[in-house]
Amino acid sequence: MFIIWGTRIRRKPSGRVAAFCEPCDDIRAHRVTEVREVSHLYFIPLGRGSLVGHEGRCEGCRASVALDGEAFAAFVTEPDAPLDDLIARTNPDLPEELERWRDLQARVVEGDISEEERLGLLVNKVTDFADAVQARAAQMHIDGWSALAFLGGVALSIVACGWVAASIKDDQAQVIGFLVAALASFAPTLYFLITDVRRFTRRKVIPPLADTLAPLCPSREDLAAALAQVRQTGLKIGKHVKLDPLADAVASRMARDLRGETA
Ligand SMILES: [Zn+2]
Repeated sequence: MFIIWGTRIRRKPSGRVAAFCEPCDDIRAHRVTEVREVSHLYFIPLGRGSLVGHEGRCEGCRASVALDGEAFAAFVTEPDAPLDDLIARTNPDLPEELERWRDLQARVVEGDISEEERLGLLVNKVTDFADAVQARAAQMHIDGWSALAFLGGVALSIVACGWVAASIKDDQAQVIGFLVAALASFAPTLYFLITDVRRFTRRKVIPPLADTLAPLCPSREDLAAALAQVRQTGLKIGKHVKLDPLADAVASRMARDLRGETA
């Protein structure tokens, strides 16, 4: 008998909120969808499942964005509630936050920000990538390196166990020999599985992060201070983003910007 079991993603409309839309560069009404991962047995859902997150779709430009559902005071279900009403009921602090943010951006351009504001900006830019690292760390990923190490481990363990069987005659010593051969063969696989998040961070997080940090021209000391602050939050990104590769990536991005290159 086959047991059909698995998980599926379910989307359910939550309502409307006011949120900042980057393409529109302003506050817009967004339609929010709740995303859940639900286990099923023979395609019958088991419970409500676990919350994956919220997606918002801008009613102006239709752009989709990941939203923090917890950040809103409410979800409004009336389809025609005007934007001012949505702001007041779902995100009342947003206009003031946006104004502060725009003022800060303007002062960044003019080079007129305090050390503390600068550090805060650097920390924000790093934590913008926290979700990606958190999601990667939450699940085991078998990347190319891990897969290659596993295949190598299989081949190596066959050869090593063959050698143990042929050359060690004592039963007890042979068992120990098999164990050692298997452990040694699969140690690299284990290493690559454990270091997957570190490689992911180096390849997929540090380059775009460096692109967003470079306009602030941070020194190595600035980056060290920002990473130290991020580490205190306990976010995984603080553990996996290392100062040296980040400082190198930022420096090369700044050099490219100076030469007027875009990529
Ligand atoms: Zn928009």
